[in-house]
Amino acid sequence: MRIRGGEIHLEPPGNLTTFERVVVDVDGTMLLGDRATLGAREFVEAFLSIGSTVCFATNASFATGEDVGRRLRAAGIPAEDHLVLTAIEVLAGYLRTGHLRSTGETGPIAFLGSDPAFGILNRAEPGVIRARDADPAEPIGDLVIAGLSRDVDDVEVESAATALAPEVRVTVPNLDVGMVDSTGVIPGSATVLARLTRLSPALLDVTDVGKPTTVFADALDRVAPCRGRTLIVGDSLTSDTPLGTDRGWKSLLVLTGATVQAGLAGLEGEPPDMVAANLQVALERGWGSR
Ligand SMILES: [Mg+2]
Repeated sequence: MRIRGGEIHLEPPGNLTTFERVVVDVDGTMLLGDRATLGAREFVEAFLSIGSTVCFATNASFATGEDVGRRLRAAGIPAEDHLVLTAIEVLAGYLRTGHLRSTGETGPIAFLGSDPAFGILNRAEPGVIRARDADPAEPIGDLVIAGLSRDVDDVEVESAATALAPEVRVTVPNLDVGMVDSTGVIPGSATVLARLTRLSPALLDVTDVGKPTTVFADALDRVAPCRGRTLIVGDSLTSDTPLGTDRGWKSLLVLTGATVQAGLAGLEGEPPDMVAANLQVALERGWGSR
């Protein structure tokens, strides 16, 4: 990556066609609210036209792959539901495969969060109950926190805080600052977790299963196995571009959502492999070798 005089260079140019699998973030990358970002549809179509697999990966905690697939198609972006992975579904799979119960404990898994997230989880894993419905005689030792913070009232957070065991395993679909839409950032499960932490003396052992964790990358490998090169495309330097770097995936950062160009100047840690103002620019600069 080079940034000089405010101009961003996609490096190396003209090599996007070498990727067999492309994993694209949704909010702030493909969509802003209900509208496609500049070049989003063309970007996806270009990869589909050369036979690449395009999957969509979102840290959303209140939507299924079908919900997100519908939003993408409504904005003109060709998306197949089985190639859309949401963090709440990854979390459901994580519970289903018994990670929480592998410790030998048999108590219920309690849930704190918003209704849509609970509905998705409960359909996938009926053993999940609302924290407010937990047996008062049995302190909560396993807790899932998911959904938008604004949908969770203080009374519910307070009652969950008082029902916790001294040590609690907490699983969350993401630790993002929030969800990016056309109006800005809407606080999510990390904010609910922060509210709970303030109210409870319990020791919380938190597991995040969203991007960029290995749990999420493993789930992607299951829905869209790939032997070739993988490109991850996103607007976040914390949840998108680090995904899969430990397995050789390359990253493209777009500046249409959570990251602005000015923020790149003070970048610490691993930089993305490529940066583009938007997907149209990425396509123009990265499609030269077709
Ligand atoms: Mg995003």
